[in-house]
Amino acid sequence: MEVPLLDLKAQYATIREEVRAAVDEVFDSQRFILGPHVAALEAETARMCGVPASVGVASGTDALLLSLKALGVGPGDGVVTVPYTFFATAGTIVNLGARPLFVDIEPAGFNMDPARLSGFLDRDCSWNSALRALVHTATGSRIRAVVPVHLYGQCASMDAILDAAQRYQLPVVEDACQALGATYREQFAGTIGDVGCFSFFPSKNLGGAGDGGLVLSRNKELGEKIRLLRNHGAQPKYYHSMVGFNSRLDEIQAAVLRVKLRHLDAWIEARRQNASGYDAAFRASGLIGRIQIPLALPDRRHIFHQYVIRCPQRNELRVSLQKCGIGTEIYYPVPLHEQECFRCLGHVPEDFPASSEAARQTLALPIYAELTGAQRDYVVGCIAAFYGSYTQRHK
Ligand SMILES: *Cc1c(COP(=O)(O)O)cnc(C)c1O
Repeated sequence: MEVPLLDLKAQYATIREEVRAAVDEVFDSQRFILGPHVAALEAETARMCGVPASVGVASGTDALLLSLKALGVGPGDGVVTVPYTFFATAGTIVNLGARPLFVDIEPAGFNMDPARLSGFLDRDCSWNSALRALVHTATGSRIRAVVPVHLYGQCASMDAILDAAQRYQLPVVEDACQALGATYREQFAGTIGDVGCFSFFPSKNLGGAGDGGLVLSRNKELGEKIRLLRNHGAQPKYYHSMVGFNSRLDEIQAAVLRVKLRHLDAWIEARRQNASGYDAAFRASGLIGRIQIPLALPDRRHIFHQYVIRCPQRNELRVSLQKCGIGTEIYYPVPLHEQECFRCLGHVPEDFPASSEAARQTLALPIYAELTGAQRDYVVGCIAAFYGSYTQRHK
């Protein structure tokens, strides 16, 4: 049996005619930039998530870049985020001339630990009355924003994160690139803080036919600023009130994404069913204790962008599953504070032990909507066989 990590061909087979009709329509119109599909996708995502501002942009990376830029992040500034995330979360901070300041994750949910955020702001930073800003004592960076990530499709502990940030009037930018449709206390991911960033990279839960991204905000004014920034700050055309970027979402992408958005709820439901199916099969297999299945934290709806287990002998298990025809991935093998390009930040691995440990232990299993029960059972069976023979060999 072959079980790929993700099977986009299986998904496309179910929506082929709808997608092709939508793309044809764009070609017939010959309107490729900021046309009716981008506007409609923005309106539909704003309505779905219950916010006034939605702006289509070129990627999830640019969603972060434009949001931070709109909040005034620049040279000399610091932005607080986690080291256990996709690179773009911190890369965008550096590309604006600012410094990423890391706080560790909560091992249970793999997201920003609010107690560590609080401790960082209270103890490692101090109020500078000349600058009228909170300043990171060790580096002198002026703290400008906090960026929690909703990793794997489950929200960070937003109440406590917002509490800590609001004590210092710091805006919160949610990296919701893996979490469109996830909720926290009935609020959609990306609408809880000041601004939410989403990615339509093809492998995301709502994936386009190439790169794409979106920014949502409860703050209409901030949303308008980001709308200007995505198009060189021009309003009207050729009159520039600020220096922005070329970061528009393509009309073709928006047309494809609108088709797929209609299926998103059903796909999320299928992923959640697969997750419960895995949970039950792992419990029945007696593997719990050996491996750890994803923890469903209270007050939130996990959309299972990834189903990630923690397991001993992770690398050997991965090779063994590959031999069984099962695709897996490690998200992410090197935490950001251990990346070569961030050596200049002066960290040692022990600075963020929960992130480094997660990077050594986690493995993402196939969880896509079209995955069958038989495929799930095969995956669990192969994992059980691996640990069975591992135990034999090491007796
Ligand atoms: C995918 C992703 C991004 C970047 O999105 P792109 O569309 O690939 O630029 C940023 N942060 C996280 C957590 C992501 O998963």
